[in-house]
Amino acid sequence: MDFNLTDDQQMYVETVRKFVRNEITPDVMERERAHAFPLDIIKKAWEIGLMNLSIPESVKGFEVDIISSALIVRELSYGDTGISTSAMCNDLANVVIAQHGTEEQKQTFLKPFVEATVISAFCLTEPGAGSDNSAMTTFIRKGEDGRYVLNGEKCFITNASYASQFTVFCKAGSPGGLMIACVIIPYSAVCDADIVTQPSGGREITLRGGGKITTGKPEDKLGQRLSNTATVTFEDVVLEDNQIIGNRRLGFRYAVDVLDYARPMVAAIGVGLAKRALDVTLEYTKERKQFGQRICDLPVARDTLVEMWKRVELADLALMKAAVKVQKQADDRGIYASLAKNVAAEAALFCTKEGLHLHGGYGFMSEYEISKLARDAHIIDIYEGTREVQNMIIGRELV
Ligand SMILES: Cc1cc2nc3c(=O)[nH]c(=O)nc-3n(C[C@H](O)[C@H](O)[C@H](O)COP(=O)(O)OP(=O)(O)OC[C@H]3O[C@@H](n4cnc5c(N)ncnc54)[C@H](O)[C@@H]3O)c2cc1C
Repeated sequence: MDFNLTDDQQMYVETVRKFVRNEITPDVMERERAHAFPLDIIKKAWEIGLMNLSIPESVKGFEVDIISSALIVRELSYGDTGISTSAMCNDLANVVIAQHGTEEQKQTFLKPFVEATVISAFCLTEPGAGSDNSAMTTFIRKGEDGRYVLNGEKCFITNASYASQFTVFCKAGSPGGLMIACVIIPYSAVCDADIVTQPSGGREITLRGGGKITTGKPEDKLGQRLSNTATVTFEDVVLEDNQIIGNRRLGFRYAVDVLDYARPMVAAIGVGLAKRALDVTLEYTKERKQFGQRICDLPVARDTLVEMWKRVELADLALMKAAVKVQKQADDRGIYASLAKNVAAEAALFCTKEGLHLHGGYGFMSEYEISKLARDAHIIDIYEGTREVQNMIIGRELV
């Protein structure tokens, strides 16, 4: 097993590090405080090829392998995990099209992402269906003219307020049905729609083909304030046949495939954040002196720094193993994707908690980055399936 990066992977890492140094780090704290979506940074990330990594070459996409994608997401997350979450969310929404769409659907639904900075949303979670996605009630039903119509409400949707394409998981037939479908509300339809933006930041998108999409007021979040999160409601949205991905009864299987792809990416977000927490803490404890010594030289504090480093490295190993398993489509990829997600979330939580502690009272001050990182870390243990959900997957595989 070779742990050295290939030349291409090294190039990706260096490119993203430079991007983070130049575009994110200088004013990330001010931007975060303003809680404003960093569209300019997202556009620059698109321009230098740090977004839409999963789009196939057949559509002139980058089709970046999973290991390299994880490295890119990890390095971007070192800058800010709200930004990396927003950027990665396009792949979360689009990978199902790359994996299960027809060639025509790939051309129609993925091409716009190659041509311009288009933002997309992955709509799975609902108010009554979080960890238990099977309880979703958003549904499609055939209308009298033979076309499907989509109705329902999704919540906590990343990029919702800026998205011009929506990937939606829904029941096929009726809200209480068992079969799940995956449908796309495409860029072309949203661009052509009549869009009214409310003072609250919510949008009403009246589609020419029939129906309306409403996005709610952007959520006021504890952390990851540079990502956008809002509800999305679909009201009598008329669909053409080509807007349904694959078999309209196999959406649940497709969602599992998406999450197998996405969990290593969330693990990468966790590793990037944990590493940043370690680095800002090292920097601080090398400067700050108490009892005539640098904090980092006090034995008990040194032990904490060592423990933080170990957690980062172990999470990175788990991430790389999961990325290799998913890349190779190994039968046991699910358990390793869940392991990596949990271990990285634990590393992020541990390193931010202990890092903040090693900053003493200063860590509790909002001007110190460690306090922002500590707020950001919590969501890594929650989205893409909570710690308990990952443990359920691991437990099921084990026995
Ligand atoms: C900032 C943010 C961005 C997000 N982005 C997206 C997105 O883009 N698209 C999308 O579809 N979703 C998104 N989500 C939703 C996210 O994936 C869900 O919040 C998450 O899956 C948990 O669902 P829930 O919030 O309903 O919690 P619940 O499912 O209600 O869980 C509450 C608690 O109960 C525990 N629990 C639940 N079931 C069990 C069980 N069987 N055994 C033991 N414990 C259990 C959970 O682990 C958790 O601790 C986002 C969420 C946030 C906060």
